[in-house]
Amino acid sequence: MPGIDPHTLVIIVSFQCLLVSFVLAAMRASFPRTIGGIGLWALAMPLFVAASVLYSLQETSPLIHVLLANSVFLTALLLLCGALRSFYSLPQPRPAMLAGFFVAVMGALAWLTFIQPSFPLRLTMMSLVGVALFGHLAWLPLRLGRRSTGSVITGLSFGWTSLSCLLRVVSMWGDFDRPDALLDLSLLQVIYLASFNVSLLLGSVGFILLINERLRRVLEYSASYDTLTGILNRGAFFKAAQKAFEHCRRTGRPLSVALLDLDHFKQINDSHGHAAGDRVLKAFCLRVQTVLRSTDLLGRYGGEEFVLLLPNTRSEDALHIAQRLRDAVGAAREALPYTVSIGLATLDTDSSTLDELLVRADKALYRAKESGRDRIEQWAP
Ligand code: GH3
Ligand code: MG
Ligand code: MG
Repeated sequence: MPGIDPHTLVIIVSFQCLLVSFVLAAMRASFPRTIGGIGLWALAMPLFVAASVLYSLQETSPLIHVLLANSVFLTALLLLCGALRSFYSLPQPRPAMLAGFFVAVMGALAWLTFIQPSFPLRLTMMSLVGVALFGHLAWLPLRLGRRSTGSVITGLSFGWTSLSCLLRVVSMWGDFDRPDALLDLSLLQVIYLASFNVSLLLGSVGFILLINERLRRVLEYSASYDTLTGILNRGAFFKAAQKAFEHCRRTGRPLSVALLDLDHFKQINDSHGHAAGDRVLKAFCLRVQTVLRSTDLLGRYGGEEFVLLLPNTRSEDALHIAQRLRDAVGAAREALPYTVSIGLATLDTDSSTLDELLVRADKALYRAKESGRDRIEQWAP
């Protein structure tokens, strides 16, 4: 380690930080806006690089290599915290609080630079700020992340940075190592600089993994759920329903299906507009969900038609559930009154596939419509 020139190290890692920033900026341009914090992180990275450059200008006025350098560093660090908080949809601190914190740190730094100059005290103060803020950056993914690769890498990288900030203070006051300036070549300084730069880079790679994990979940969700009503879409419903169907058939348990179709829905659209129709569809799905059990599956079959799979449900129980659904819709206090027709079919020895069962439920639904709507019909041979 002592052979490593910290300047060279800082330059190499700075270049990589700029690349990370570029990657994040490109991700921000193309990823869904619901994934927060990408832009803030992209902005923070060049600021860390700028701070490194400013720190290295040791022969300039302390106004530049101390005050300006540290204010850019602190801004970058606060931006990282803001980015991660935004990623986890946490509230941001109030601007007045942030400004107060910033001014207090910079004021103390100015005091320790011009009035009572002390490099060890300055280093101690900035290191303690680092312990707190990097600790926050480590805590968020480890606490809120789902133990994914991204959250572990981000958490451990910043956890290590926080710890190394603390070690720096301890080592200095324990008289193991007392540098006179930031880019001194003492062993601990080199270790500190190396670990800081590498974990900043590694933490950013962890953040990119976190974003990709989130994107995967967003895409999985939109591939499985109906965007209007939030219930399973047709494809995802059939995938889950097929599994439940086969399980019931294998174990000889009862199973029922229901097709639900809102009555005269076209009229609702025609009289009150498509948006009002959409609101009715959403409200209807919420109502249905209040009646269902956790093992029941509800999917959007298409338009204003919905499909229900009721595992472990005999025909008389299915009728009872359908009755409760119809009552729930009747009692609805939505702006517009509406009714629903329901067709039911129950698995028996003759019906060998889910499709067959649905054809039967559809026939029952047709009968419900034919006999005046707002009613429940059960399939009978
Ligand atoms: P019936 O009682 O025989 O079922 O009559 P209906 O009017 O409900 O049935 P029809 O099939 O004639 O019309 C269904 C209407 O549902 C037509 C279509 O525009 C509307 N619809 C389908 N999907 C949506 C949607 O997502 N939002 C809204 N607002 N309307 C939809
Ligand atoms: Mg209809
Ligand atoms: Mg219909």
